[in-house]
Amino acid sequence: MADLFAKCETLTKPRQAEEMGCYPFFIPLESEAGPEVTIDGRRMVMLGSNNYLGLTQDKRVKEAAIAAIERYGSGCTGSRLMNGTLDLHRTLEARLASFVRKEDALAFTTGFQTNLGAISALVGRHDVAVIDRSVHASIIDGCRLAHGEILRFKHNDMEDLERVLQGIDSRRGVLIIVDGVYSMEGDVANVPGLVRLKNQYGARLMIDEAHSVGVFGEGGRGVAEHFGLLDEVDVYTATFSKSFASIGGFVAAKADVIYYIRHMARALLFSAALPPASTAAALAALDVIETEPERRERLWENTRFLLTGLKDLGFTTGKSDSPVIPLIVGDEFLLVRFWRGLFDGGVFTNAAVSPAVEPDRALIRTSLMATHTVEQLQRALDVMAMVGQELGVLSRGEPVGERV
Ligand code: PMP
Repeated sequence: MADLFAKCETLTKPRQAEEMGCYPFFIPLESEAGPEVTIDGRRMVMLGSNNYLGLTQDKRVKEAAIAAIERYGSGCTGSRLMNGTLDLHRTLEARLASFVRKEDALAFTTGFQTNLGAISALVGRHDVAVIDRSVHASIIDGCRLAHGEILRFKHNDMEDLERVLQGIDSRRGVLIIVDGVYSMEGDVANVPGLVRLKNQYGARLMIDEAHSVGVFGEGGRGVAEHFGLLDEVDVYTATFSKSFASIGGFVAAKADVIYYIRHMARALLFSAALPPASTAAALAALDVIETEPERRERLWENTRFLLTGLKDLGFTTGKSDSPVIPLIVGDEFLLVRFWRGLFDGGVFTNAAVSPAVEPDRALIRTSLMATHTVEQLQRALDVMAMVGQELGVLSRGEPVGERV
């Protein structure tokens, strides 16, 4: 028989990056993931988190988590179905449902499991999941677990979506699934186009607002609210691991849809419940999201500052329209060298390579927090300018490839 482990020896790319001294993954932080972090004893500007509102450091969020541990203990030790449901879960779910204006909501232990559970429950044998080509891995895996068919449309391309919808037998149920904000390039779903087509073809629409809840919309409800179309979203999912400063996720929809998912989603039924501390932290973060819009405003001010700075320097920032801003480099080896230069200069960013992005679109992913100061961002820009110039990522101030 062939050796099952043979593939382990041929995984060369990460090893090459290590040999180059440019391995950008699994780097241990020695501090909170705030606007500055400590790595190897050194303070660095953190431009690589999803802590958009900076709430992981908020005293009220931390105290709520501590109080929940005191009252409920450190874990639930079982699934929601059997023995892991707390009154705190139900309180959180009721608050979330009313926050996103749906009849009911259901909390999962991670955002990834939320998509796995909700999609695999809803897309049955005779149904079709129609997904944007750039959706998050958890959506793709949810579709793979589902018994229905998966069809893809070109990224954010409504003409291509219509072409796909036209080819589906009208007796089949259809769930169109998109990210609200795309996690690598920071561009925003065309919600008006999606709503028009889902209504025209009688499909259902699911939006994963992981990177947009707390960030977009007057009340922080995400891109659907931003476009005034929250009521048109049939299945709303999001995670607690970003603006909510915790871990976990939730799906919100009509009551009978949530009832169905609650009894059918294997990722919920066969996995232990969201721990007390994480549940309470998410609840406390929701209080802040609902009552402190000024945090969102600060986040957007920081976003405008960094985006303008990067564009003025000549970086290719793609179609970002959110606090997720990519610096598109293209070549993966140039990318890890660029990443290393930024790291050595005291700026922590994320290197995104295939399969997270297309193979020729390797990029540095940066993301903002409401709690960054202008001084920190300017410091990061200075380092980016220097390293970008040195490595030719900024070709004499001109962007490489397209510039928006
Ligand atoms: N959806 C999207 C769009 C994401 O970016 C992520 C994680 N980055 C998830 C879902 C999964 O969320 P979690 O990390 O809470 O499992």
